[in-house]
Amino acid sequence: MASSSGQDAGLRHLALMGIPVWARRRPTAGRGTALPPGEEGPDRAAAPVPAATAAVPAAHRDGGVATLGWEALAERVAVCTACELHRTRTQTVFGTGDRDADWMFVGEAPGADEDRQGEPFVGRAGQLLTAMIEALGLRREQVYIGNTLKCRPPRNRDPLPEEVVRCRPFLERQIALVQPRVIVALGRIAAHNLLGVETPLARLRGRVHRLAAGTPVIVTYHPAFLLRSPREKRRAWEDLCLARRVARGEPT
Ligand code: SF4
Repeated sequence: MASSSGQDAGLRHLALMGIPVWARRRPTAGRGTALPPGEEGPDRAAAPVPAATAAVPAAHRDGGVATLGWEALAERVAVCTACELHRTRTQTVFGTGDRDADWMFVGEAPGADEDRQGEPFVGRAGQLLTAMIEALGLRREQVYIGNTLKCRPPRNRDPLPEEVVRCRPFLERQIALVQPRVIVALGRIAAHNLLGVETPLARLRGRVHRLAAGTPVIVTYHPAFLLRSPREKRRAWEDLCLARRVARGEPT
């Protein structure tokens, strides 16, 4: 297990960065605590979560995405028109960071800032993700950050199932190339799409899931959600500590 001193160090780091949360007390229900569907509430008694499949229909593997190297993969994404999102994007948002990273963070889809800048997790949510990464004793450049979708859904709506299916081979190839020791799924949609389940996020947290290839996945809240519900940052920190134990090969 991670030592308490290590966790304290992470908390100190957050405090130094001016993040006024990671409260020690469990939050109680009350005003301002309403959460969106799938990201609601405290953990419930653990119900078994199905093993991850992350299966992709064979038809969508056509085109050899599963054999592409990094540069060819990036080029393929940049010109992709496989779903309707290509019509409204400013540019694709491929992913960023260390391509040999031990840690991989996967979000939902680009937002307005990401669509403009071509990089995932910029803006306020990106700043919080950076703080979360640094609280783990890592630098943002040391991890790999990507999204389930590479193009922004209009008005930040949820991705449609067919968009996820068509875009999934790109993320799968990124995971296969990075070969991370742990993946952190950021938010309900990323978790559902990675794990191939529709279980509420509260029941996906706190345990180690595995993709079909065996890659461990830890589920936590999306930084944008944490900005709206800062009291949940304590739970997110617990998730990150679990992911750190997985990355270190420690008992969970
Ligand atoms: S979201 Fe994915 S599948 Fe759709 S156009 Fe963009 S890169 Fe292609």
